Amino acid sequence: MFSAGHYQILSTLGRSGSKSRTELAAALGLSKATISALVRDLLDRQILCERQLVFGLGRPSVSLGIRPDAANFIGISLQADPAVLLLTDLHGQTRARVEIPRESDPERCIAALHAAIGSLRAEVGEPGGEISGIGIALPGFVSRDRRTCLASTALGWSDVDIGSRLTALTGLPTYVENDANALILGEQLFGIMRGCPDFSMIFVGDGIGSAHIVDGRLLRGYHGGAGEISHAPVTIEGYGARPCRCGNKGCLETVASLTAIRGAARRGGLPDDVDQLAVMAADGHPEALGLLHAAGSALGISTAQIIQMFDPSHVVVMLAPALHEGVYGRALRQECETHVLRRAGAQTTLYLRDAATDSFASGAASLAAHYFLFGEDET
Ligand SMILES: [Zn+2]
Repeated sequence: MFSAGHYQILSTLGRSGSKSRTELAAALGLSKATISALVRDLLDRQILCERQLVFGLGRPSVSLGIRPDAANFIGISLQADPAVLLLTDLHGQTRARVEIPRESDPERCIAALHAAIGSLRAEVGEPGGEISGIGIALPGFVSRDRRTCLASTALGWSDVDIGSRLTALTGLPTYVENDANALILGEQLFGIMRGCPDFSMIFVGDGIGSAHIVDGRLLRGYHGGAGEISHAPVTIEGYGARPCRCGNKGCLETVASLTAIRGAARRGGLPDDVDQLAVMAADGHPEALGLLHAAGSALGISTAQIIQMFDPSHVVVMLAPALHEGVYGRALRQECETHVLRRAGAQTTLYLRDAATDSFASGAASLAAHYFLFGEDET
């Protein structure tokens, strides 16, 4: 559909938001005439739009941007039950949304997703609602070609070719990605970290996920699990290490996740509701304080390790609102600060943010948008 030159322009505008023809020529090392011809083609195909005049040295120039309605995508999150499906435009804005029960049987899951995709497409209608691709975010490992879920403990899946199956059913290119990786791609393309070349994200929910953009690209590793901290150990056998669902003991997830906090509260005779625990801790209840402090500190140590390993400019931690402001968030910041090696110059910025409901489905849609803008060669 697009040439290499088209993809160069789309990926540059996708990362930066807008540029003039002169800026594009300078950024890509191409002649002004070549850029003008490529831009003219993309304007004729209604992929780009001209926005406003940019005044600088010399003649005023026109700023170019990607039209939000140039393409639509479907993002599917299997991260939690219910599954969430979004239909978004090329700027990541949601145009339609549906929730369905998350089926653990692969056949039933694929059939239910196919039906839900049909209802989303019908809701938006055509013209203007044509879909350019589907993205799926799921908790687990994914094949390098992003078509197959290799293994997912949460779903109980192994070797489920969900991407190829949905492509066969819908006729649309379908890409599958680990949930944390989809989340960070969404943040890089549509979020506040847009265009940032080096940052990490950590998501604290029932489990813990992490992902990293290094030199502008998603760090995947051979099996797609690079920089995954949830099952890296933070406690040692004989010193309170608890068994983890992965089969090991003492993983970060056994201390710092919502599941771990609820479990520790039950064992200590406290209410197993995280909001309630946060209120008790804010009132000075010593056991609630101790429990949330230990959980936040463990995540702080793991965050410091991420900073030491990848040297990101920012680490974004997405948390339940109850954990964000209170002792968990404070312990996380303090422990991280204590264990990061002091360097000359700027330090890594730690952002704590509330987890939004549709973050994973939005990340899944951005995975499809990523391929639309950058082509299949760039991942
Ligand atoms: Zn584990």
